[in-house]
Amino acid sequence: METLKNRPITKLKGVGPKTAETLEKIGIKNYLDLLFHLPFRYQDRTRITPIALLQPSQIAIIEGEIFKKEMTHGKRPTLIVWLKDETGVIAVRFFNFYTNMIKRFDALKTLRCYGEVRYGMNRLEMSHPEVLNFMDKDTELEERMTPIYSLTSGITQRQMQGFIDNLLQELKEEHFPAFLETPDVNLKDALYFLHKPPTDVDIERLENKKYPVQETLALEEIVAHQVALKKSREHFSLEKSSPIHLDPDAISQFKENLPFTLTGAQSRVISEIENDIQSQSPMMRLVQGDVGSGKTVVAAGALIHAAKAGFQAVFMAPTELLAEQHAINLQKWFEPLGITSLLLTGKLTEKQKREAQTKIKSGEVSIIIGTHAVFQESVEYQSLNLVIIDEQHRFGVEQRLTLQKKAPKGFTPHQLMMTATPIPRTLAMTLYADLSSSIIDEYPPNRIPITTTVVSEKARDKVIERINAQCKEGTQVYWVCTLIEESEVLPAKAAEITYADLCERLPHLRIGLVHGRQKSAEKEAIMALFKAHELDVLVATTVIEVGVDVPNASIMIIENAERLGLSQLHQLRGRVGRGSKASFCLLIYSPPLSNMTRERLEIMQATNNGFEIAEKDFELRGAGDIFGTRQTGEFRFKMADLFHHQHLIEAATEIANKIIDDKALSQKLIDRWIGDSGEFVWS
Ligand code: ADP
Ligand code: MG
Repeated sequence: METLKNRPITKLKGVGPKTAETLEKIGIKNYLDLLFHLPFRYQDRTRITPIALLQPSQIAIIEGEIFKKEMTHGKRPTLIVWLKDETGVIAVRFFNFYTNMIKRFDALKTLRCYGEVRYGMNRLEMSHPEVLNFMDKDTELEERMTPIYSLTSGITQRQMQGFIDNLLQELKEEHFPAFLETPDVNLKDALYFLHKPPTDVDIERLENKKYPVQETLALEEIVAHQVALKKSREHFSLEKSSPIHLDPDAISQFKENLPFTLTGAQSRVISEIENDIQSQSPMMRLVQGDVGSGKTVVAAGALIHAAKAGFQAVFMAPTELLAEQHAINLQKWFEPLGITSLLLTGKLTEKQKREAQTKIKSGEVSIIIGTHAVFQESVEYQSLNLVIIDEQHRFGVEQRLTLQKKAPKGFTPHQLMMTATPIPRTLAMTLYADLSSSIIDEYPPNRIPITTTVVSEKARDKVIERINAQCKEGTQVYWVCTLIEESEVLPAKAAEITYADLCERLPHLRIGLVHGRQKSAEKEAIMALFKAHELDVLVATTVIEVGVDVPNASIMIIENAERLGLSQLHQLRGRVGRGSKASFCLLIYSPPLSNMTRERLEIMQATNNGFEIAEKDFELRGAGDIFGTRQTGEFRFKMADLFHHQHLIEAATEIANKIIDDKALSQKLIDRWIGDSGEFVWS
């Protein structure tokens, strides 16, 4: 039978082989995938809004007679076009225009344009809108709301809208069944409604996913995810792995060598792991523990058992900086136990890589610490039986699964995921339905809580004075520069500027700089200097966000803190408060602050508890944003928003349990909502 799933996207009008290849990058291979590629935003291009009715931050089409044009010269030449309609007057600004644009304006008596309304010089204006009535393109008003889709480079918004139009046209006569019992919702109508909303729709309500059809689809999607994860869990419990026989002597020796005693929570989680790894079916465990709760020693415990039992184990971290630091710490712990380890990151020279690979293949080395370089195709393991992923929320599912395939044929390694991004309970129920969970809910003793203060940029001079005084008393300081946009160049630049400024203003202090664009050796050298207290101040980008551990550093300064998510701020702040000194975190913002941002920064001031922060962040922003732009495959929902749809989770779990044995239905749901990434879960 022909289904939407087995109709390849190349059959669609307008999609050639090259476009198909591009679409595949965002997971669209067939008709079903495209049909469920739902808009994430909408534009209203169906009507003209009278000038007097415009509201700040409204996005609208306006139309009026041009009664004046002005040019301002200067750094940024601007053309201001004044419009009037029957209700009022507004200025429309154009930047970076070219001369031929002025000519085009000369030919216009009226202007129709689409853009965002903002406060300019104490009145509303529109800046750099899209012009809809230049001679060569006179755009009609739309009959439906305009859907906005996520794209990939090589496909424009217009093209994507066109493909969807063609698809809906072609499918007009077809029937799509709803798989779950949803008597009131016709799936086909629902999808047409979402792709092509009528003019009377409330865009805000739609974007917030509050229409009943959206709820129905969200329920179906959450069910699909739970079914997929439960299947994956079932699948793994049938897999075989080699039991790891424990070595209590090695562990006692390890504990004796530590300069501290494990907390109760650390000991408990280690024994949970010990229970799992002695089994013939693979461990699939998630360890959640706030920043600074001491996850690394817990991982070390598992690694020691694996190595002592004669297996290889991998410890993977998301950044080179972190992998390097882990290697230094772990090697110190492993050496007295006679356990061999090596560091494998992308930055090794070809020769070093080859040497590492030879040692891994021959089994000469037991513990491999590294970045995602550890699962590159050229790396072959002799006896891999344990995989630990640190800061697992930074990796995608696929990466985890590639590593599993590195185990000897027919065997699946034991797996331990560690995360410091605390996840609200409801969210965890859905996202980690396939994992057992351990929580480190205790901090190492004698920690003095970090005092957090939110200050305006205007107080920068005072801040600099204060760090000067503190450094003279032997304190070390992190100064984190955040990015202006999601790009690699800008934060490095911002950090360089701050670095130069601080060097000039604090000539007696030793100041270092790290950012993502430096060579690995350079980063390592600077971190080593900071760790050895050869530097007083470390200016950095967010590369130091995860894992970096320098207990003597007790002041964290974060510039433009308003640009970061709460969980990220919490992670950064967790770089201090690791020693026995009182620690401080200063969040510097550039005014003005919106109420929501103020509220968010105040949460940081009010609590040091990562779980509390996560719950609040979740409340304020919804689930999607918690994971920011680094969303991994597991978290990308098409319709469901786990915050708005929290109330559906329990019902979804019930349905998932009921239908899990119906293979055909489960598969259909997975095809529809998860597509090929679903196959990954248990292939
Ligand atoms: P996490 O990875 O959970 O953020 P780390 O493993 O980096 O935390 O540990 C944070 C710091 O606390 C490290 O300096 C570590 O040596 C130290 N530490 C870990 N466990 C204990 C403990 N039980 N008592 C005292 N210090 C500890
Ligand atoms: Mg850590």
